[in-house]
Amino acid sequence: MPFYHAVTDFCPVHIKYLYQPRSIQQFKEDLDFLLENYQSISLQELIALNKEGKAINKNYFHLTFDDGLSEFYAVVAPILKEKGVHATVFLNTDFIDNKELFYRFKASILFEQLKDKSILSTSYNEKEQLDELAIQHGINFEDYLQKEQPYLTSDQIKELIGQGFTFGAHSKNHPIYNELSYEEQLAQTKESMKFITSKFNLDYSVFSFPFTDNGVSLSFFDKVSNFTDITFGCAGLKEDNAPNNFQRIAMETDKSGKEIIKGEYLYYLMKEKVGKHKIIRQ
Ligand SMILES: [Zn+2]
Repeated sequence: MPFYHAVTDFCPVHIKYLYQPRSIQQFKEDLDFLLENYQSISLQELIALNKEGKAINKNYFHLTFDDGLSEFYAVVAPILKEKGVHATVFLNTDFIDNKELFYRFKASILFEQLKDKSILSTSYNEKEQLDELAIQHGINFEDYLQKEQPYLTSDQIKELIGQGFTFGAHSKNHPIYNELSYEEQLAQTKESMKFITSKFNLDYSVFSFPFTDNGVSLSFFDKVSNFTDITFGCAGLKEDNAPNNFQRIAMETDKSGKEIIKGEYLYYLMKEKVGKHKIIRQ
């Protein structure tokens, strides 16, 4: 299960200092490699396979995209339709329709102008400092949102659902879960899931953890299993003792898709030898 954020030949300022998105050419090459070796399945098929719990005798893949970015509508979806590839997009409910900006994106925008490295290490709990800094330097995030439209709109999401793409939640405003209380973790998950499934009339419910699911407890997974089919982390090729939690492979590196996937398998086999191929939660 590979995961991406954006695909673009022109990296926008809000992403520029955070990670390197795939270019269109790189993304197409990733897809060609995946399609040569694996069969694309829909989210509904993945949920059904997981429910059956039987051994899978075929190589499948399902693509996922975090953060609900507008490049999925403009760039990614047309390529996926052409190649017949399924995908799920995970949305932060506070950001849909360009209502608010992810604090890490604010940091990237501020860094572009101020070139102060400490801005990029601002944590979720310090995020208000970014708003203060923007006011001090006359940077208006509201204007940026309206001009750049980084996020998918509700209408685009509805259109994409009509084309067969699937959607899930990625929390409300992208906190780091291991810095939240158990109650806050549940609220961020529950409220964002409820919003997405009711607003877009979905008959499935999936969630991907913002940043990482590192440190999230088994009792959390037990609780959310009441209202989610599957949850997704991003620890690479790894098993997980939390039921219905799938780990995904990050594709935004400087390597080719083939190198990334092969590397993950090799690394998995090495980890398996020393029993580190599985995440054991308490
Ligand atoms: Zn994210």
